[in-house]
Amino acid sequence: MTTYRDLLAQTKTEISELDARDAQELGGAAWIDVRELDEWQEGHLPGAVHIPRGFLESRIEAAVPDKEQPVVLYCASAARSAFAAKSLQGLGYENVHSLAGGFTDWKRNGLEIVMPRTLSPEKRTRYSRHLLIPEIGEEGQLKLLDSRVLLIGAGGLGSPAALYLAAAGVGTLGIIDADIVDETNLQRQIVHSLDTLGTPKVDSAKRTINALNPDVEVIGYRERLTSENIDRILDDGWDMILDGADNFPTRYLVNDASVWHDIPVVHGSIYRFEGQVTVFKPKDGPCYRCLFPEPPPPELAPSCSEGGVLGVLPGIVGTLQTNEAIKLAAGIGEPLVGRLLLFDALSTEFNEVRIERNPQCPVCGDHPTITSYIDYVEFCAR
Ligand SMILES: [Zn+2]
Repeated sequence: MTTYRDLLAQTKTEISELDARDAQELGGAAWIDVRELDEWQEGHLPGAVHIPRGFLESRIEAAVPDKEQPVVLYCASAARSAFAAKSLQGLGYENVHSLAGGFTDWKRNGLEIVMPRTLSPEKRTRYSRHLLIPEIGEEGQLKLLDSRVLLIGAGGLGSPAALYLAAAGVGTLGIIDADIVDETNLQRQIVHSLDTLGTPKVDSAKRTINALNPDVEVIGYRERLTSENIDRILDDGWDMILDGADNFPTRYLVNDASVWHDIPVVHGSIYRFEGQVTVFKPKDGPCYRCLFPEPPPPELAPSCSEGGVLGVLPGIVGTLQTNEAIKLAAGIGEPLVGRLLLFDALSTEFNEVRIERNPQCPVCGDHPTITSYIDYVEFCAR
């Protein structure tokens, strides 16, 4: 009868085992740590990817799509990695090696190791439904916690965005809003409530977010965004802007600043039953002025907050913006760069329009003609 020792010895004759020096000389190798999570958390090799042995076969193709790429597998002592190497050979990987002596010898020989950042047990519980998604996992959740998202407005679009970003564990939310919560807001601005009527929207939003998730730091700017303060606010350091502005002066200001500060903008707008979402990522795609170089004349201005809107529409559009923001923060998926998503709430139809960077754009084009902020006068079509 075959014992474990026999099987291991037999397997080692069928695979390649390399010592640390030879393994390090393999060019462009993928290093895969097949140990369990608690072992990984106590330190791992630099640049290694963690795929526990039990998930190796199901996840290896996502981690190493090219079956000719060299792969170095390691565990604690080169037993699990030997069996793992044999299994990858069976999957067609042509250049697979098990690290002799495993992590134990590596560490004993004084070679470099990395202590991973990990989530506390409380955070592992709170974000468990993210951790279960391989595309996010612990690494993605740490990225979200490190992310800084600046919300322009705590109104219809900013409300669902603030709530879902906070729930997702986006670690720092900046909120710019000069307004006070009033009764007409409550039809759609779900971050506010009767309890906060008459208080500044930034304080009201902060209160709701703190009650939802104390991991999130809220930085409130109770001011109206202008050419005077926008650089100061952006200098606080933001990974992206989620634009929920309801007026043209702010939209143009945010656009021009985002190009000059090189910060992506997740744009959303709403009017009655219609919504639009896109991502303006400087250099990768168009900016708002590529589409609309100048504000429309006052008689054509489609909306101000008085324009009327179906209450749920900002919920849908703001949530789509949040989806884009979370993807950007976690570095996953296909962002809406160069794509304008249109939503019609009455017919429940989505349409997508391709949008391109305009080389003649006055701000992000090849020969910009606008190089300093413009404070447009706010106007509304009545
Ligand atoms: Zn542009």
